[in-house]
Amino acid sequence: MPRPLDPLPTARLNTRFGDASAETILAVALDRFDGEIAMVSSFGADSAVLLHMLAALDPSVPVLMLDTLMLFPETIAYQRDLSAHLGLTDVRRISPDTGAIEQADPNGDLNSRDSIACCDLRKVVPLRNALAPFTASISGRKRFQTGQRAAMRAFEVDTDGLIKVNPLAAWTPADIAAYLDRHALPRHPLVAKGYPSIGCAPCTTPVAEGEDSRSGRWRAETREECGIHITPDGRIERKAG
Ligand code: SF4
Repeated sequence: MPRPLDPLPTARLNTRFGDASAETILAVALDRFDGEIAMVSSFGADSAVLLHMLAALDPSVPVLMLDTLMLFPETIAYQRDLSAHLGLTDVRRISPDTGAIEQADPNGDLNSRDSIACCDLRKVVPLRNALAPFTASISGRKRFQTGQRAAMRAFEVDTDGLIKVNPLAAWTPADIAAYLDRHALPRHPLVAKGYPSIGCAPCTTPVAEGEDSRSGRWRAETREECGIHITPDGRIERKAG
């Protein structure tokens, strides 16, 4: 059943809780959308922060991990180990349809020919399908990450009517590092190898000292996003090169 496109609930939630702590925003979202909400996590460099908060509030909330079948093996291992460490009980690995992959990317090289199409095939469509049963989703996006995220609110609604909750919108890199240290959370093994932002293996490179943390993503292109985030006014958050 299509979700109603009603931005008013997010406006009210932003007015009341937009400047609250991440833990409060998350708790409000879990209460407001009880049984209809899932967290989307890449199990990347910063993911342990929000997953840790979720585990403290309700470890049974579904966590959707998008496995594009192009991830680093370290990410798959980290997902398994971190989920067990935190006691998360409903982590769902979402993969693209094998028939669609065979048809559109049989050799696994679409990323080098048309990365936008590859992200649509391996990320956008599978995640949209996986989120269809839910009213709201939780993401770990932060305003500092890209210019496109600078105006992001704690509560948003996309063109499908899906409520998007961003508890860490106002967080800085220092906030994240402090939280990870304070709670002694396991780090993604590639962070120590120079990957501060981790996506698919073909499209992620290490970052040199002094570079922006996301400069290792789609390094050969000018875009910042994979297309899985849709802004409240309906624009897909990505820059085609
Ligand atoms: S990040 Fe790269 S490999 Fe992953 S889906 Fe997008 S283009 Fe394909």
